[in-house]
Amino acid sequence: MTVNMNDQKDKASILLIYTGGTIGMIENPETGVLESFNFQHLRDNMPELKKLGYSVSTIQFDPAMDSSEMGPESWMKIVKIIADNYAQFDGFVILHGTDTMSFTASALSFMLENLSKPVIFTGSQLPIGMLRTDGKENLITAIEIAAAKENGVPVVPEVCIFFENDLLRGNRTSKINADNFNAFRSYNYPALAHAGIYIKYDTGQVYHPVSRKPLKPHYLLDRNIAILKLFPGISPQVVESILNIPDLKGVVMETFGSGNAPSYDWFLTMLRDAVDRGIVIVNVTQCCAGSVEMHRYETGHKLLEAGVISGFDSTTESAVTKLMFLFGHGLSPEEVKDHMNCSLIGEVTIPDAFRS
Ligand code: ASP
Repeated sequence: MTVNMNDQKDKASILLIYTGGTIGMIENPETGVLESFNFQHLRDNMPELKKLGYSVSTIQFDPAMDSSEMGPESWMKIVKIIADNYAQFDGFVILHGTDTMSFTASALSFMLENLSKPVIFTGSQLPIGMLRTDGKENLITAIEIAAAKENGVPVVPEVCIFFENDLLRGNRTSKINADNFNAFRSYNYPALAHAGIYIKYDTGQVYHPVSRKPLKPHYLLDRNIAILKLFPGISPQVVESILNIPDLKGVVMETFGSGNAPSYDWFLTMLRDAVDRGIVIVNVTQCCAGSVEMHRYETGHKLLEAGVISGFDSTTESAVTKLMFLFGHGLSPEEVKDHMNCSLIGEVTIPDAFRS
């Protein structure tokens, strides 16, 4: 990891953390394959960075990582960099591969407790050195958002993703397109800002910390989580092998529509048995938008009776990382269920009837 301080004016100071991904890649002239390049490449290709008028310092992962190889270790590394540099900077911009950016942003929203400064993820679909790159605009606007203050207070003190004009709450996002510049969506929560000629913030949607406690970075995550995606015709062997993974603590079960699943006896018995063994099973929908409502249909109701809990309108990315975070802190299955039933940092909409 290298640190490169670049003091400019006495304006907002931003720490740019380059973890890897397409934005900093270059084409290998012999094979045509995109490979990670030194961060210097990014600075060479973006003289605009110097023109912004902020004090932008950079830290680079060494080696840079494709985001498909990132996970809890890399999330902790980013959290550590932010925690170590928290006092010196007004905001943080994280350059990250797009493939798993929503997982990292979700995880960080839980790991950075009492965050009161912007942490803005961005990346690009085309390398920054290419003529038609989307990386430059994404990066410049992400820096502007990370630096934005009103009356001395950061406008967006949240973990967000900025991509192709929209600023989205990180733990509400999913990558939805492998080709288009418009690669991320937050279907169940409105955008926090839209960048056109001006950057227009929807301040009513922004999460503001209720207390002014100091940042509390967390480094404990439990990987004993699985995703069980249902499909018509799923066999008992598949369900059984997932639910019997040794040391399994939590399952994010992707169901149909508003949280429905087949009511086969073998299936419900396996779920009930797993719940009785202390495994927390969270029901999220395979639909991009909308919420799980297990009371709506008989098929959903049977899941409730089997002890499955609702993930409401959580994304899979958010539910997985929230379970890792909660179990990582040694909570019991009952405590984890209680926390899954409330919003820790704006990641889920809990209907009034379910609020305690
Ligand atoms: N494979 C790359 C990554 O996620 C893709 C990208 O950056 O968009 O690291």
